[in-house]
Amino acid sequence: MKILIANLGSTSLKWRLFDFAGGRETVLHKGGLERVTDHGAAIEECLATLKEQGAIAADADISAVGFKTVLAKGLSGCVRLDEVAVASMEAMNAVAPAHNPAYVSGVRQFARRMPGTPLVGLFETAFYQWAPEAAMRYAVPQKWHEAGIRRWGFHGASHKYIAERSAELLGREDVAERARQLYVDGGSSPVREPALRVISCHLGGSSSITGIRDGVAIGNSLGLSPQSGLPHNNRVGDLDAMAVPFAMRSLGLSLEDCERQLCKESGLFGVSGVSNDIRDVQAAAGQGNAAAQLALDVFVHEARRWIGAYLVELNGLDALVFTAGIGENRAELREAICRDLEHLGLRLDPDRNAGTRAVEAVISSDDSPVKVMVIPTNEELVVAREVKRLLDRGQPTLND
Ligand code: ADP
Repeated sequence: MKILIANLGSTSLKWRLFDFAGGRETVLHKGGLERVTDHGAAIEECLATLKEQGAIAADADISAVGFKTVLAKGLSGCVRLDEVAVASMEAMNAVAPAHNPAYVSGVRQFARRMPGTPLVGLFETAFYQWAPEAAMRYAVPQKWHEAGIRRWGFHGASHKYIAERSAELLGREDVAERARQLYVDGGSSPVREPALRVISCHLGGSSSITGIRDGVAIGNSLGLSPQSGLPHNNRVGDLDAMAVPFAMRSLGLSLEDCERQLCKESGLFGVSGVSNDIRDVQAAAGQGNAAAQLALDVFVHEARRWIGAYLVELNGLDALVFTAGIGENRAELREAICRDLEHLGLRLDPDRNAGTRAVEAVISSDDSPVKVMVIPTNEELVVAREVKRLLDRGQPTLND
């Protein structure tokens, strides 16, 4: 069974083609297009490339196309993306303007181009379906809550991968199996004592931190929208709700101005005034740019704040995991985030940390009660596995 995973950005299309033949999980092809102005043409080019490279002989060789969809009104989990589902995604475009519109238009283009092929979305919110209600509720009036104004949590595919892989690496096959079965049984598969407590730090263009107990998320730093939690590349992160009306009145901004500035001109870029890429921000800070240094300090401060929150909630910690572009590659930031936590049982090994880039590794010292690990994430594999599971169950429709 060949499953194509399409990662849709507003100006990009990246893909991976998985083959599950013979019980294996093989990546047959990996590619991408940047500066895309027309997703239809990009899909055409993707399919042509897969044929040229011999990954498929015909479009019909692709059993399904899977998407790491962001959020939809009244819908989560792993579902067939029929027009009802796509319209539910579209209804949330204003909450995720940097992410949802690209999926809405891209999925519609795939539906036009490959009408007989199942299109399936694993929503980024899916991993948090079993988080405690108190962790997901905002203290807003009930009507707001019913309108969908609550914490949803995102980066679900990435944190789910970390839940599973960290348990495997820590020798807890029981917990790994619970994480694997999560979307089937909601986390009810049995596990041994003691509980496995993991904090997963996905630090990249978007960043989020999740607490995971026995393979199941207990919350996520991202809330209603992907503009919350830690500061992101150019998106704001957590902000007091009264800041928007205050900025509108005192700076004379329109609602659209506020949306644009919070979604495109904030985060690392907004504070540093330099770039939305942490490499540039670090380089500028190294040359004495105080605003760039402050952007890094804010990022580290917020990461530590969320780690602290989950440390308390989990009543201790077995492993702190770093993943994604920054988490996998930026040793200095990992070091800054883990600074002075020896009293909580967390001791980084400076040489292991400095020597680790984009590979699985333990970077804490041998005598550290809490293991600190780097685990490269694999979001596409998580999506492909769930799409396969859905196809194996007989391709139910949304209403099944
Ligand atoms: P996205 O959330 O868009 O998928 P990534 O996970 O690739 O983004 O993370 C992007 C961030 O990670 C950027 O700030 C970039 O500087 C940093 N980053 C990504 N890859 C590397 C690398 N190989 N070396 C250093 N930093 C990297």
